[in-house]
Amino acid sequence: MSTVSELFGSLVFDERVMKARLPGNIYYSLKQTIRQGKSLDLSVANAVATAMRDWAVEKGATHFTHWFQPMTGITAEKHDSFISPSPDGGVIMDFSGKELIKGEPDASSFPSGGLRATFEARGYTAWDPTSFAFIKGKTLCIPTAFCSYSGEALDLKTPLLRSMEALNKQAIRILKLFGHNDVTQVTASVGPEQEYFLVDRKLYEKRPDLIFTGRTLFGAKPPKGQEMEDHYFASIKPRVQAFMDDLNEELWKLGILAKTEHNEVAPAQHELAPIYSTANIATDHNQLTMEMMQKVAAKHGLVCLFHEKPFAGVNGSGKHNNWSISTNTGINLLSPGETPHENAQFLLFLVAVIKAVDDYQDLLRMSVATAGNDHRLGANEAPPAVVSIFLGDELTGILESIEKEVPYNGKEKVVMKLGVHALPRFTRDTTDRNRTSPFAFTGNKFEFRMLGSSNSIAGPNTILNAAVADTLRIFADELEGAEDFNGALQKLIQRTITAHKRIIFNGNGYDDAWIKEATEKRGLLNLRTTPDCIPAMLEKKNMDMLTGMKVFTVSELRSRYEIMMENYCKTLRIEANTMVDMVTKGILPAVEAYAADTAACAAAKKSLIPNLSCEYEISLVTRLSNLVDSIRKKTDELQQILISLHDAENATAEAFLIRDKVLPKMAELRAVCDEAETVTAKKYWPYPTYSDLLFGVY
Ligand code: ADP
Ligand code: MG
Repeated sequence: MSTVSELFGSLVFDERVMKARLPGNIYYSLKQTIRQGKSLDLSVANAVATAMRDWAVEKGATHFTHWFQPMTGITAEKHDSFISPSPDGGVIMDFSGKELIKGEPDASSFPSGGLRATFEARGYTAWDPTSFAFIKGKTLCIPTAFCSYSGEALDLKTPLLRSMEALNKQAIRILKLFGHNDVTQVTASVGPEQEYFLVDRKLYEKRPDLIFTGRTLFGAKPPKGQEMEDHYFASIKPRVQAFMDDLNEELWKLGILAKTEHNEVAPAQHELAPIYSTANIATDHNQLTMEMMQKVAAKHGLVCLFHEKPFAGVNGSGKHNNWSISTNTGINLLSPGETPHENAQFLLFLVAVIKAVDDYQDLLRMSVATAGNDHRLGANEAPPAVVSIFLGDELTGILESIEKEVPYNGKEKVVMKLGVHALPRFTRDTTDRNRTSPFAFTGNKFEFRMLGSSNSIAGPNTILNAAVADTLRIFADELEGAEDFNGALQKLIQRTITAHKRIIFNGNGYDDAWIKEATEKRGLLNLRTTPDCIPAMLEKKNMDMLTGMKVFTVSELRSRYEIMMENYCKTLRIEANTMVDMVTKGILPAVEAYAADTAACAAAKKSLIPNLSCEYEISLVTRLSNLVDSIRKKTDELQQILISLHDAENATAEAFLIRDKVLPKMAELRAVCDEAETVTAKKYWPYPTYSDLLFGVY
């Protein structure tokens, strides 16, 4: 058994390996490429490819793949073997610089939202040297971006990389104004906290709804749910602990800094948090983490559920996206400093984030919108669908003092003047442990808490980086021309606070009164469902910002709009069809069988003892028969609605029809089926129950 430090990164072609295996000049050029995005010439690529191949083959790899993140939200790979024929009839293990830099997977079966006409079905993948190559199984995986031949992004990573570049460029402009001429790179860092459920594989396999949709479409409430609040941070059950131990080891080998793990609020729910890294690497690592969780779970006879709401009536799962920006010289730009000068800089970045979140609430909400996440946001367990920022009372008080030039209500009672006064030391506010804020400042980072557990973190971070970059651009444009920098800075910050303080809310986000105040008094958006959110992508102000920051082109945005609408429709059509199938093949026959056996029992008893009343059997059979009728009726109605979807003009029209007609009918059908479950004897019920699933792992 090797130690963690020997294990860590042992399957990653990281800087340690590069340094050990590459000639000095090659290592230096590659590092320039990684650090500064310089392009790589073919001779360097060839040398890197050779070293990578030798290293991978020594570790037992036989294949390589360009690993990418198409808009399905999961990762894709196509394996090619290293084998190449040699003249003597044998084979050599071959891998060229060209193969490292560029791949050509057949792209026609990945979603493109019309971007890629079929005559140019091929897209290409391009090596992203900022994320290290790694070995999975027997395959060397090379992280890549995926584009069409006309250069349009067909993946989630390309826009993310572009947004990081935009943020880098604009933040450096601001830092120059503060005299940081030594800063050559600014990066967004992310630490995503991942929630998930673990269920027993044998039980999972008996639930078509879990298999096809990732969530239970039926299931009466168990006698015990999460009301005892005895799961959160409770000691971890042995089988789960064994899974976590194994998982940590696999993640460490891949250089993933899995750090904390604990039980979550709901029974069978858990969380894993890594140590943060650059937004790009964090995205790759989060995808890999989810994949490893599935693999390791399978080894332990478990299944890992990433759906946002696998079980009705208990908490769903999300992902907390901890985000900050920092320089290559080691300054966290969201960390309050010690001197008045540092404070002024911190406050400028702080208000930039505040303005960006207020101006692009709709895009941020859109970036986390999926059919699954619609079950959480606004359902009093995750943040509401209204975007707002938590700063804590102290920081809010400081901003107010700056804005209104009134004494800050702290010990010193001074009017906060930028560049003159040091910020009063404020303690990190811990009152927000209720997690009701969608976007919380937590001392030196923001925690965006609206992400669903199955979301790729690429999309939300792309929007966040782009929106903050654009705000910094506006600030830099204004400040670069200023004669009196401190005066201009003070005015800019004051003006920004006045214009955007409506987005700051430190209270309880679950409170109905907040939703009313947010929408009626403050004019904040309440985009409740996915079809409400998607159109934000095509709004002029948003398209201008995203194209201006060169994060998306107009056609990329249009194609993503189509893909999101289609995904929403597909997801819910599959759910509705699965329901119909389970009712027809499982639930109705089961309830019927129980009714028939009960009736037969009454008949038998009566033939033996004619004057028995058989009241129990008769009332039960009546109730079961009525339930059967109503299940049948609602299933027919659901099927009729599904047929009528064919008449929808386009995906947008269909999405709204599904939301307004299909979802309510599914809820009605579920209600009668769940009632039937509560009156049907267990041995007749065809599916594992909530009690089995939620309390089945120990
Ligand atoms: P909390 O308890 O407030 O959630 P933690 O220290 O547990 O905070 O961190 C949660 C996640 O935030 C972890 O993934 C951690 O690595 C990440 N994180 C911590 N500091 C930063 C930062 N400056 N930028 C981005 N992520 C961070
Ligand atoms: Mg947290």
